[in-house]
Amino acid sequence: MKVETYKKTVKDLEPAPNLENYEETYRTFDWKFVRKELDWFDGKINAAYNAVDRHLQTWRKNKIALYWEGEDGSESKFTFEELSLLSNKVGNVLKEVGVERGDRVFIFLPRIPELYFSFLGILKIGAIAGTLFSAFQEKALEDRLVNSETKVLITNKELKERVDKVRRHLPHLAHILVVDSEEFGKSLEKASDELSVAHMDPDEYAFMLYTSGTTGKPKGVVHTHRAILQQYMTAKWVLDLKDDDTYWCTADPGWVTGIAYEILGSWSVGVSAFVYAGRFDPPKWYQLLEKYKITVWYTAPTAIRMLMAQDGELLKKFDLRNLRYLCSVGEPLNPEAIKWSIKTLGMPFHDNWWQTETGGICIANYRCMDIKIGSMGKPIPGVVAAIVDDDGKEVGINKEGNIALRPKWPSMMKTIWRRPQKYQSYFIRGLARHERGAKRRVEWYITGDRGWKDTDGYFWFIGRADDVIKTSGERVGPFEVESALVEHPAVVEAGVIGKPDPMRGEIVKAFVVLEKGYQEKTKREKDQLIGELQEYVKKHLAGHAYPREIEFIDKLPKTRSGKIMRRILKAKEMGLPIGDTSTLEEY
Ligand code: AMP
Repeated sequence: MKVETYKKTVKDLEPAPNLENYEETYRTFDWKFVRKELDWFDGKINAAYNAVDRHLQTWRKNKIALYWEGEDGSESKFTFEELSLLSNKVGNVLKEVGVERGDRVFIFLPRIPELYFSFLGILKIGAIAGTLFSAFQEKALEDRLVNSETKVLITNKELKERVDKVRRHLPHLAHILVVDSEEFGKSLEKASDELSVAHMDPDEYAFMLYTSGTTGKPKGVVHTHRAILQQYMTAKWVLDLKDDDTYWCTADPGWVTGIAYEILGSWSVGVSAFVYAGRFDPPKWYQLLEKYKITVWYTAPTAIRMLMAQDGELLKKFDLRNLRYLCSVGEPLNPEAIKWSIKTLGMPFHDNWWQTETGGICIANYRCMDIKIGSMGKPIPGVVAAIVDDDGKEVGINKEGNIALRPKWPSMMKTIWRRPQKYQSYFIRGLARHERGAKRRVEWYITGDRGWKDTDGYFWFIGRADDVIKTSGERVGPFEVESALVEHPAVVEAGVIGKPDPMRGEIVKAFVVLEKGYQEKTKREKDQLIGELQEYVKKHLAGHAYPREIEFIDKLPKTRSGKIMRRILKAKEMGLPIGDTSTLEEY
């Protein structure tokens, strides 16, 4: 494979990167240096306090923390002080309805300002915040709210209707606060804007996010207040945020990037952030980059590829000269996307890698470092990454294996909610290669991703080791989609895979076995049924998780114990060899 390198020029290094020398810093780094840059209460900490409140003692008090624009063009802005006071008010409202430390308070909102200050308010009183992506429908909501035993839900009138449909299954849900209701407006107005922030043990839980694996229901990945150390450090060194930046992270706080780099990490470094509540729309996005004079932009490969697919003339209509630094996350960033940005925007996207479970960026390209185009970069200072085999033994340079990390880094998940064994299953004991050839027994966190490391220590991504699907950067569990499909009366069973797609990375593809009465339908009726099944998943599970392709088949490949073998469906779809079929039931 021919590797192209983007060599940093003098212009690329202007203004000086926050992290000036990666290698030297990696070698000498200690987390205690970062600890000193944050605010503590005698060994205790609060992540939300560090994100926002601590700036009130500095000149940043009246700095704009949030520029906000809605899909309808409405605008608002909030200083750090305003965010702090509003989050105090939410904290007090929550206390009034009986929320205590450790209780789960979930937010089901689009990207409106209430989402942001509610999140901060929940953390400030020591409760555990959860976020629910606004595309979730009743099944996705029910799974998450039941498992987390959420006590209070913060939502709006429109989204509440979906929750009402499953409310009878949610005995723990004591209150629903509706942010666009008169009642909430009044209680917020009445609430005091003074709050004594909860002093948390660094290992106490701060927020949780449900994410999908290969099998079973989504799991609640729990993060602690300590995570702010890594989110702060990476916002500074990887995203290179500075005080005169205006930063736009296009992620949604329903996913981890939106929490770590649109709320906690980014605000902890005191940057002015911009949030757009609307959907992806190329001319609109360019217009927003221009209008808000965005300097640092953190987005995702699917969005970049969709921008690339636009007519080149579109970009020329906008003045994007304020952009100075670009980052990307969530799925493999293909070399063409980087080359496109160099050509059209005059600078490369910097890819970085991490997961819901890692709580913060772990492998990255840095401003101060040349980019090997197509690589995810190198581990952040304080994180040890390696490629290991299935027994946890480190493999050699340029050899494929599991991407693994050495526990514990500060933003590592603390547990899987109420599933301690699932949590344990991420870790294995193995061997680390030591300098001078010696080997040491160590523990590894297995990421579920496959990759390799080159001679210069750059990491390269190959794919998932399991059946988890990444579509438009969003993680979808095949089991959830299969479960939604089989609820439809026409479906006997379904097998769901991620099918490679040039634009979205992968699309969700379902193989469906139909009930007898449906098998004999005409082609037209079957085409109609495809549309119906797609709508069914959109309406019951989530808008982003529906199968863009559905194929009817007579039988699914299964193991003798009855497990669907998605890997065979995928191999067939892609015309690849099927591999070991010794455990396969006759097919
Ligand atoms: P999530 O937990 O939803 O953030 O998804 C994490 C998964 O997204 C990882 O395990 C990878 O499979 C994928 N991913 C995230 N960032 C990258 C990247 N820079 N390159 C390739 N895959 C990535």
